Amino acid sequence: MATRALPEFYWTAETDMACVAAAVTQTREHAYAHHIQRLMITGNFALLAGVDPHQLHEWYLSVYADAYEWVELPNTLGMSQFADGGLLASKPYAASGAYINRMSNYCGSCRYDVKSRTGPRACPFNTLYWDFIARNRALIGANPRMARMVGVYDGFGPEEQGRIAEGAAKFLSRL
Ligand code: SF4
Repeated sequence: MATRALPEFYWTAETDMACVAAAVTQTREHAYAHHIQRLMITGNFALLAGVDPHQLHEWYLSVYADAYEWVELPNTLGMSQFADGGLLASKPYAASGAYINRMSNYCGSCRYDVKSRTGPRACPFNTLYWDFIARNRALIGANPRMARMVGVYDGFGPEEQGRIAEGAAKFLSRL
């Protein structure tokens, strides 16, 4: 499967996604981010956007003071990016903006609307999450812990599914 390069904002924090900007800014300033920031913000974004897992691994290894490769590499490739085919984790750690909103206070100050999955203010985590479900539906449909999400996606209907695909493609083309 084709992968994309790690976006520049992982180094600069210059993104209008408040959650990603905060996680990367903290990383730049303290060489530290907590579990939710690593797994469910920067890791989750890379997974949903189809970033090269090896580039993400090299980024984690170089930016965190507590990153030791024997722990960091299996966590990144296995748990975070599901790039080992499911040896380490029983499901991909993919989540929409709703999860980030539940676990943080970033969404209140973000230019995006965490309740929208399509449209100009749609939270990119929502659009990319549902596009990820669509692109990987064969894998996800066979996973008992995620199969329900394929049913939810099917319930959106063709028009909303088209808007999701279009929105995801447009967002990814700007990375
Ligand atoms: S609205 Fe979306 S992009 Fe913005 S902070 Fe919340 S989860 Fe992140």
